[in-house]
Parts: sequence; C-alpha cells; structure tokens
Amino acid sequence: MEPISEAQRQALEALYQRVEARAADISGAHAWWPCRRGCDHCCRHLSAPLPLTELEWRYLWEGFQRLPAEVRAEVRTRVAEMERSRPYTCPFLDRESGACRVYAHRPLACRSYGFAAARDGGRWCQFISDLLAKHGDGDIVWANQDSLEETVASLGGPTSSLFEWFAAHP
Ligand code: SF4
Ligand code: SF4
Repeated sequence: MEPISEAQRQALEALYQRVEARAADISGAHAWWPCRRGCDHCCRHLSAPLPLTELEWRYLWEGFQRLPAEVRAEVRTRVAEMERSRPYTCPFLDRESGACRVYAHRPLACRSYGFAAARDGGRWCQFISDLLAKHGDGDIVWANQDSLEETVASLGGPTSSLFEWFAAHP
C-alpha cells in the first residue's frame, strides 16, 4: 500500500485533533455527558459498515498492522462474519473490555459520533438524545458533520466501506 505522505498525515491528524478538541470541550463542560471508555454501544450497533476515505483507510491500516498477528486474524474473521449480521459490531472492538483496538487510528466517523450534528439535524446516539431532552442543548457548540465529511473527502481518495477496504487488501 502506498505510504502516507507527511503532508497528508499532518492534514488528517489536524482534522482528527480538531474533532477531538470539540468533543473534549463538549464532554468537559457537561458532567453528565455519557461518552466514555467502556461505553461501546455505538461500536456494537453500527447501522452500516464504517465509511472511510482512502487516506483514512491507509491511516487505519497502520493501526491494524500494529496489532498482534492473532488479533489481526480475529479482526479479519469478524469482518467476514459482519457481512452476515445486523446491526454490526465493529471488528476492531475488544468485546471483553469495550475498548477500541485501533483507537489512535480510528476514522472520522468514530471520532465525531455523538459530538457532531448533521445539517439535517441528525445526532444519532439515543443515550445522548435522552440526556439532551433532560438537560437541553442550548449551550452546546456541535461539530458540523457534513463539513467534516467534506473536509476529510478533500484530503485523499474515494470513500468506501470497511468491508470493501478489507476485501481490497487481503
Ligand atoms: S456515542 Fe453514545 S453509545 Fe457511543 S460512547 Fe457516546 S454515549 Fe456511548
Ligand atoms: S473503529 Fe474503534 S471506535 Fe470505531 S466503531 Fe470500531 S471499535 Fe468503535
């Protein structure tokens, strides 16, 4: 696979850091915010396989390659199983601990989930929606999901699903 250029890496990591800063601002300002390590409901109930741009896939691939061989094999087995089950459980989720095995390399969709609003108003996580109904969201500055997707798409390559990327890199 073609290596990531330094310029591409810096641009992608800057975008990821921007999303993480927004998420930290939101959760840091609201003690009731539910996202935390071990809350893996979103990773266990994906409505569709994760979408990634080619650049994101190459970045994720770096994290995947750092996993022990037996874990990489397990991930590939779970990718094959995913195609037969819905909702999807992400193959990168450590089902025992509820932690992401490629956390530092996870794609935009995982970083923005719960912290971004789409132009159509979509916010997706029911836990968050339930708490917002109680606490209100007037002071929350959401990330803009559509804008984030446009930005990551501009950084490199087409977008495909996790299935398709794995199938293309056996
Ligand atoms: S988005 Fe929802 S399910 Fe995912 S970590 Fe946050 S509260 Fe938990
Ligand atoms: S890549 Fe990590 S954060 Fe994203 S859905 Fe999979 S386990 Fe969850």
